[in-house]
Amino acid sequence: MGLVFGLFLPGIISSRLERVVSYEEAAALTGPEEGGDTVPAEGDPDYGLTFEVLPGAKHYDGPALARSMPIETKEAWLSWMRTNRNDNPAFLEKRWALAQDFVHTSELKRPEDVRAFLLAPREHFVREANKGREYADTWLPIGYGATITDPDVVAMMTTTLDIKSGDRVLEIGTGSGYQSAILSYLAQDVYTIEIIKPLYIETDKLYRDMENTYPSYGGISRKLGDGYYGWEKYAPFDKIIVTCAIDHIPPPLLKQLKPGGIMVLPLGPPQRQYIMEVKKEVAEDGTITLNRRDVYNGMGVKFIPFRDEMGSSHTAPGE
Ligand code: SAH
Repeated sequence: MGLVFGLFLPGIISSRLERVVSYEEAAALTGPEEGGDTVPAEGDPDYGLTFEVLPGAKHYDGPALARSMPIETKEAWLSWMRTNRNDNPAFLEKRWALAQDFVHTSELKRPEDVRAFLLAPREHFVREANKGREYADTWLPIGYGATITDPDVVAMMTTTLDIKSGDRVLEIGTGSGYQSAILSYLAQDVYTIEIIKPLYIETDKLYRDMENTYPSYGGISRKLGDGYYGWEKYAPFDKIIVTCAIDHIPPPLLKQLKPGGIMVLPLGPPQRQYIMEVKKEVAEDGTITLNRRDVYNGMGVKFIPFRDEMGSSHTAPGE
């Protein structure tokens, strides 16, 4: 990993080292993981929990709001935020500073992505136990053995997706809800799946509570279930973002990705993954080609495992 750090500006090395806290440490902070019994079985009153935006329903246009926000100077942005939002000014300063850092590291490349990052109040998605660390450039435990991803990795994965406002985007691993909140400023059609029931319920409530002030969260369709199988009802997707670690590309997700679509996922064994961009091309004769790129050029990351309904890691078909 040492070699890889050399590729980045010295100023951000420390934040990268900070991220390399072991997964076991995170688990220790949050108590034992809820293995098994993550998704209710058929017959359970909570079976099939879902919130879906009705097809064709008019919902709030997050991308349009993002386009209307000035980001040329910090002053212009702050003044817009004061008029349009009620966010704590101290957090606004920190959010702006992080966005600037990520522009310098190219983890935020397009203005659209900068706007989306600037609009999402991370402070509302970091859970109570970590108040005070809302804008630390590190992942944080959110309970149930899950984490809110580091802001820089969120930025990098988001930028890699190259989202257009008309895209249909699927996220696997809702967790805190932060990533999908960002996505809701880039595309109107956002879908997210979480496998841990209490976490699904918690984040669903959070979105509902926030909807008045942050209306685009009301347009995020969400469901409790195993994201390995995607969301057939709304497939195909232009973009898919996987936010839990897996050692192979889930075939059902690949199938639900449109030709020309992009998937980004932490690929690798449980100890370490690489953030891969996978572009799917389909030739006229039906041949599928996958173009893969390691977006961090060999730098490892560590996500929490992509689990099945019993709490074990998903294995590749045939294993
Ligand atoms: N995007 C989240 C990251 C949360 S950590 C955020 O920004 O907060 C990864 C999440 O993936 C966890 O909440 C975990 O429960 C979830 N997860 C793990 N396996 C899953 C599966 N098979 N289907 C859906 N979600 C899964």
